[in-house]
Amino acid sequence: MKKLLFICALSFSVLLLAACASNDESINTQTCNSGNVILTADFSAGRMDECKSLGNNEYLIQLKPENTPINSSPWYAFKIQAKQSAMIKITMIVKGDKHRYLPKVSQDGQNWKLQPHKINGKRLIMNIEASPNAIYIAGQEIIDNQYYIDWANKLISNDNIGLDVLGQSVQKRPIYKIESIGSGNEWLVILGRQHPPEVTGALALFPFVETLLADNDLAKQFRDKYNVLVIPNINPDGVFMGNWRHNANGLDLNRDWINFSQPETQHINNYLRSLVAKGEKIKFAVDFHSTQKDVFYTMPVNYGVEEPYFVKHWLGQLDKAMPNFRVLLQPGNTPNNGVSKQYFADHYNVHAITYEMGDESNRENIKIIAKNASTLLMRTMLSNTNHNKE
Ligand SMILES: [Zn+2]
Repeated sequence: MKKLLFICALSFSVLLLAACASNDESINTQTCNSGNVILTADFSAGRMDECKSLGNNEYLIQLKPENTPINSSPWYAFKIQAKQSAMIKITMIVKGDKHRYLPKVSQDGQNWKLQPHKINGKRLIMNIEASPNAIYIAGQEIIDNQYYIDWANKLISNDNIGLDVLGQSVQKRPIYKIESIGSGNEWLVILGRQHPPEVTGALALFPFVETLLADNDLAKQFRDKYNVLVIPNINPDGVFMGNWRHNANGLDLNRDWINFSQPETQHINNYLRSLVAKGEKIKFAVDFHSTQKDVFYTMPVNYGVEEPYFVKHWLGQLDKAMPNFRVLLQPGNTPNNGVSKQYFADHYNVHAITYEMGDESNRENIKIIAKNASTLLMRTMLSNTNHNKE
């Protein structure tokens, strides 16, 4: 930190000053500079590990994980700019692994489209026009820590919805909670971004939560009966560093819901336990992630949690409501593996699901599915249906 302050004091660079202002302690400073073209990852969530200029407007980028062993999710995000426009060729390889995320391109950091490319064995190859107008290339849309704060601030403009810091990450970044308190004592818990590159999970969480917190009769009735706790960004260090999977200590947070060795999971566990100690009840939890396809990992109906058919009834309604979307339920029970879903079942005797969206799933569909799933969850939790039988 001292070193950073020293650099801040001396620096006139806009980028460095931005980093200082946001109090970030380390930033990925990998840069390729040909004199005309600059490739850099020195921004929040940026990552390219190693960049080599090969001459002739050709660049080789190598991606590396934060530590191993690790789930195969090579993240990258970098910016390209040139003094004078030039066609450049970028080849990306992954150390000891293969590519997972197809490259997306954006000029404003908000609107993204697929970047034309070819994959040749382990090489991902792109021809791109570098120009004075910077462009971003990334494995998915860049949704950094600031994005969550801006999003949350828009949500809390109404009535009993509050935004607070639940605790701090390993590197002392805030972990935020959004809370809606009604008149009952039962809680719906929403979690997100344990795994930094799993952006399609975030793209589902946003509309899902917006639907729960909307200003309409159904949502208001729901929030009167149920309290809602949303922790949308559990791994802000990993998000900042562009990690593939882990937190700043190199651990998978979604394997830590049994040992609670990390501050990120400790804060949530302590908070939920403090609610229960006050006589409150955890009713259901949804944890947003991404994988190769759209799938809902659930607890089996015979696992022994209360209202065993609740999730089947809810997602069965979603399947009916969306004839063009196949709702895939994958029940599973993996004792002692430390995933959040299992924690909720084992500690609170209730259902929980891992809500997974496919890496390349259509973004508009992700939104529609999330809005419908959220609306139907509220209806299911408000209805008098007996969830003890099929
Ligand atoms: Zn995940």
